[in-house]
Amino acid sequence: MDCRKIIAASIAAGDTVIPELEAQKICRAYNISCPTTVLAADKEQCLTAAQIMGYPVVIKIHSRQIVHKSDVGGVIVGIGGPEQLDEAYDRLMNNVGQNCPDAEIGGVLVQKQMPKGIEVVVGGLRNDQFGPVVMFGMGGIYVEVFKDVSFRLAPLDKDEAARQVRDTKVYKLLQGVRGDKPCDLEALCEVLVNTGKLIAEYPEIAELDFNPVFCYPDGCTVVDARLVLKS
Ligand code: ADP
Ligand code: MG
Repeated sequence: MDCRKIIAASIAAGDTVIPELEAQKICRAYNISCPTTVLAADKEQCLTAAQIMGYPVVIKIHSRQIVHKSDVGGVIVGIGGPEQLDEAYDRLMNNVGQNCPDAEIGGVLVQKQMPKGIEVVVGGLRNDQFGPVVMFGMGGIYVEVFKDVSFRLAPLDKDEAARQVRDTKVYKLLQGVRGDKPCDLEALCEVLVNTGKLIAEYPEIAELDFNPVFCYPDGCTVVDARLVLKS
């Protein structure tokens, strides 16, 4: 399914949020890398999917009505084997059933657990005066504390993306501290450039949120993606 079809289907369904599974398809169409993810209808399918992709895995609730999955206990990470998955599946369903009893459950995402990287956030928004904008900043637990973000008009080229990254404090971490290998800034800049293309090409998208993006010495991966459509 191409991006235009995914966006049109969401609009037709009256949804304003495109959840992770569909947002990933749009990301991949723009060469933005995401972890292997399978939608499972029940526990049996989760176990099969995890067996095929290999442990460790993460499971996440898939629902049109749930925007912040971990706020409702809808994300469980670090599942190392089938017994853990069996237990985690029940716990996830129980959490979601208690916290959002009315949500339509579309299934459970089984996702490859990604190794820890430097966490950053990439966003997109549409400003009334300036039009499409790309946001970049520090991710993880200190986001609120440091408010370390920089903005650029979209679309942007690689040089502009590199300047955007250098405008932030997290740039220091990305360069590698205390003997850590530097992150792949080239790959990160490509994510910013491709995000700029995406937000510029689809006026239907009001906002996009890649949070977190894990950065590695070799590449980077969007571990959670969501798009918000104009209402
Ligand atoms: P939410 O909808 O609550 O933002 P996320 O998909 O971002 O849910 O998951 C919550 C947290 O779980 C992330 O911030 C990240 O730290 C961790 N996480 C999610 N997916 C993965 C993954 N595939 N590998 C490793 N950690 C993950
Ligand atoms: Mg997230």
